[in-house]
Amino acid sequence: MRPAMTSINKTQLPAMRLKDIQSCMKLWKQPMYRAKQIMEWCNKGVLDPHLMRTLPIPLQNRLSEELLCMPLSKKQMLESKDGTRKYLFHNQKNRLAESVFIPETTRGTICISSQDGCVFDCPFCHTGTLPFNGNLSCGEITAQVLMIKNDLRENPAHNELCGVVTHLVYMGMGEPLANEDALHQSIAVFLDKHGLNISRRRITVSTSGVVPAIQRLGEAFGVNLAISLHAATDKLRDELVPINQKYPLHMLRECLDAYPLPKQRHITLEYVMLAGVNDREEDIAALRAFVNPEREKLNLICFNSFENNPYKSSSTEHINQFSQALIKHGIRTTVRRSRGSDIMAACGQLAGKEHG
Ligand code: SF4
Repeated sequence: MRPAMTSINKTQLPAMRLKDIQSCMKLWKQPMYRAKQIMEWCNKGVLDPHLMRTLPIPLQNRLSEELLCMPLSKKQMLESKDGTRKYLFHNQKNRLAESVFIPETTRGTICISSQDGCVFDCPFCHTGTLPFNGNLSCGEITAQVLMIKNDLRENPAHNELCGVVTHLVYMGMGEPLANEDALHQSIAVFLDKHGLNISRRRITVSTSGVVPAIQRLGEAFGVNLAISLHAATDKLRDELVPINQKYPLHMLRECLDAYPLPKQRHITLEYVMLAGVNDREEDIAALRAFVNPEREKLNLICFNSFENNPYKSSSTEHINQFSQALIKHGIRTTVRRSRGSDIMAACGQLAGKEHG
């Protein structure tokens, strides 16, 4: 007798593209149009087969028995007064995924996690201080988006804000390029024209700078790229972004110059503003030497402080002056407004509380 498959090892429905569901229907001797019906429910964020009302009950039962349709469960949701929603999900091994929905008047962005924790140890990053509990699977990455879509359908965002998901950013917990297979599979699911059909111009992968994997990402998908730069000299970056010791700035430079950019797009260089650490005159000079203004833009980020962390954010006034100085030198510079600061905005804070 074949041993029963544990639900953890089952194929995960949110990781399936239309062609995968079609193969499954063929195997189960179901009419092909059932695959499209299942895909339509998934696209709405309905992953529970018993809620897929257009399917016959025996097929609903079979789906729920043979596939892992809901690899994540919602543990918590906090809503900020600015409309930002922060979600905490868990899988069957109690691995956590933190995701954020950020509504703006013309777009809605979901920030997704790729790992529970992170081994890269950037000292200013809350996620870096958490124990590493493992990679999220492709289905667990895509389920974050589908479950948020479902939640938004059931509880629409405030009227004046956009309640529709238009953009995805891999900027939650974890280093996406350290979970490369699941990252690539999940991007393929998001791009699938029968699935969510999100344009590659609306998907951004943020990385601390895993150079060979950036090259592979560019070749495979050419999605938008964001780099956690945070320092423009090796001395300081070795400290703030330790992966720099393995892939120093000259290697990152070469890799960014070769990255296939969609037309009129820029690579975003993320730069968290730490008072007295990377916000000095000499840092402006280092940025001028490093940034390629033709292809890159700099995004200055206010630091969200958290307990037991020595760093402090630069003041708003100083960030504005720093930004103006860079703009004067021809570097396209923006300042990221902090969203959801009343709901533990630092990435990994909700998960950290849960892991204790
Ligand atoms: S900044 Fe990114 S790579 Fe660095 S510890 Fe945090 S999650 Fe990991």
